[in-house]
Amino acid sequence: MRKPIIAGNWKMNNTNAGTKALITELIPLVKDVKGTEIVICVPYTNIATAAELIKGTNIKLGAENVHWAEKGAFTGEISAEMLVELGVEYVIIGHSERRQYFGETDATVNMRVKAALASGLKPIICVGETLEQREKNRVKSVLKKQVDGAFADIPEDQLANIVIAYEPVWAIGTGKTATAQDANDTIKIIRNRIAKLYNRKAANKLRIQYGGSMNAKNAHELMEMKQIDGGLIGGASLKAVDFSIVVKH
Ligand code: PEP
Repeated sequence: MRKPIIAGNWKMNNTNAGTKALITELIPLVKDVKGTEIVICVPYTNIATAAELIKGTNIKLGAENVHWAEKGAFTGEISAEMLVELGVEYVIIGHSERRQYFGETDATVNMRVKAALASGLKPIICVGETLEQREKNRVKSVLKKQVDGAFADIPEDQLANIVIAYEPVWAIGTGKTATAQDANDTIKIIRNRIAKLYNRKAANKLRIQYGGSMNAKNAHELMEMKQIDGGLIGGASLKAVDFSIVVKH
């Protein structure tokens, strides 16, 4: 019922030359994929190049962040309208690296989600616990706070345009993946929270990805799980062959 979505998060990688090489290699590898939505989230400076290259293909374009204001005195920031103009469809919001290094909070995540939706962008909202929080058995309360914060005042009719990425912080870029069962169980906690905030029908429709060292080797097992509707892929999205294997899982 929920269409799987595999999204690459390139982070701060690739020049325009690298973008051209990677996308040119990726297009033929995934051209026959129909049942899975394919997204690449690229640095701002590569968006125009990526948009041109993926025209007419089954690959969609995403950005890695968006500011909440429409415009104004926010040096170094990028608005939703600027992204839409370039053909961006998805935007990652609240990635743990933004939370950890750039002071992102649940409140600013919520502001960015609202701005994205108002411009027709589809947010990929990242949530997830740190290792310390997991070890202290705080997974449920941490996720509740993050989900409640991100979805504050978001109307139910917008849920179809939102994807959640459950990314345990300890699994991002570390090579440590959550077990498929663990990821599935934790995503169920998130889905149950959405059901509490909205209703069960809405929660059952919402797509929730897993992210955290998902790669060509473990994608199949993770994607087999009932609750997991896709992946947010960091490192493995920088290699066309690996990313295509994840897409085809
Ligand atoms: C990410 O950046 O969202 C991510 C999951 O990274 P990696 O796949 O490298 O762990």
